[in-house]
Amino acid sequence: MTQYKRIFLRPGKEKPVAQRHPWIFSGAIDRLDDGTDDGTIVSVRDNSGTHLGYGYFNGRSQIAVRMLSFDERTVDSALIRERLLSALERRKCSGVTAQTTAFRAVFSEGDFLPGLVADSYDGHLVIQILTLGIERMRNTIIDLLQEVFAPHSIYERSDHAGRSIEGLPERNGTISGATPEEIIIVENGLRFIVDVRHGQKTGFFIDQRDNRALIAGISRGRSVLNLFSYTGGFSVAALAGGAIEAVSVDVSEPAVRMAERNAELNALTGRSRGVTADAFEYLRGVDISSDLIIIDPPAFAKNRQSVAAACRGYKELNLQAIRKCRPGALVLTCSCSRFLGMDLFQKVVFGAAADAGRAVSILHTGHHPPDHPVSIYCPETAYLKSLLLSVD
Ligand code: SAH
Repeated sequence: MTQYKRIFLRPGKEKPVAQRHPWIFSGAIDRLDDGTDDGTIVSVRDNSGTHLGYGYFNGRSQIAVRMLSFDERTVDSALIRERLLSALERRKCSGVTAQTTAFRAVFSEGDFLPGLVADSYDGHLVIQILTLGIERMRNTIIDLLQEVFAPHSIYERSDHAGRSIEGLPERNGTISGATPEEIIIVENGLRFIVDVRHGQKTGFFIDQRDNRALIAGISRGRSVLNLFSYTGGFSVAALAGGAIEAVSVDVSEPAVRMAERNAELNALTGRSRGVTADAFEYLRGVDISSDLIIIDPPAFAKNRQSVAAACRGYKELNLQAIRKCRPGALVLTCSCSRFLGMDLFQKVVFGAAADAGRAVSILHTGHHPPDHPVSIYCPETAYLKSLLLSVD
């Protein structure tokens, strides 16, 4: 029988574990067995030595243990297989697989597999290994992904900045099968080109699917300004929904070019225009004639320390958009910073509305779709929030 190294928590620190929170911060640890190596599975104990569950350890990380089970169940391939199977079942039963050929197949803590992300693009998997603990189980996980998802190919995009905190180098390359240079996915009937090798994240912002559907439903007859447009997902959705025109603004030239190609792919080119520019400067410099504005910036707050600066960025964007848009305009404003919750985001937008002196109401609030489940025990992993505003 495997002898697991033990980690003993400080008195009182067993409570979150008993409540199935998967993270144990280094400060919660009282003592550990000699020779507890980074990346290994450990038995987590309360201060008196009672076993609480198993997780993987990394002394280099602030989150020293990420839990994988909360009882006597050991971490083996049967447990991981079960987790992957239930992840797939969640995608099916929530209707995601019927709606799109691009979905997040495994979402880390949300699927009770902290450190593992897998996105499925038309049957090709793109995986991200975020932690040393998962890295140690890499071969088993790859075999099980093959078994459960039967993908055409598996590609790895483990080039997330957080890997260095875990003591891991970046890795980017094919694991199995042949991943096409470009994959065409179909989301709610619209087609998009995904470059999984060079695109941002794993190639596509899958998490905005519901908001793109929302925009398709409210864009008829409107003139759309899509800020931080990446490969034009919102612009294509808006044009397909009957928008008069869509202007896509992004600082990345390859993204803007891809947005044009995506418009073409859906036979929507005539009414679409791409602008390579900084969205802040663009907003400051133009008179806005649009009456549907989308603001979907990257995560401005990468950690707790940068929340205040991030809020200033969100406020500036929202202030300019709300101040300048036409009466009767709609603004979809988003934040994907995990360190900034909906309450704070709404306060920032409130500040922008008040400073702009316009009548603003919230028509809809949104978050990431069901293929990005949030474990009820770990609400910290909810990150995307959006407000659809009407501005008079
Ligand atoms: N709405 C997109 C996803 C946006 S991701 C979709 O549905 O697919 C954020 C985008 O912001 C990225 O494409 C990035 O290139 C762009 N970006 C980052 N900083 C920017 C800036 N200052 N001005 C304009 N675009 C920027």
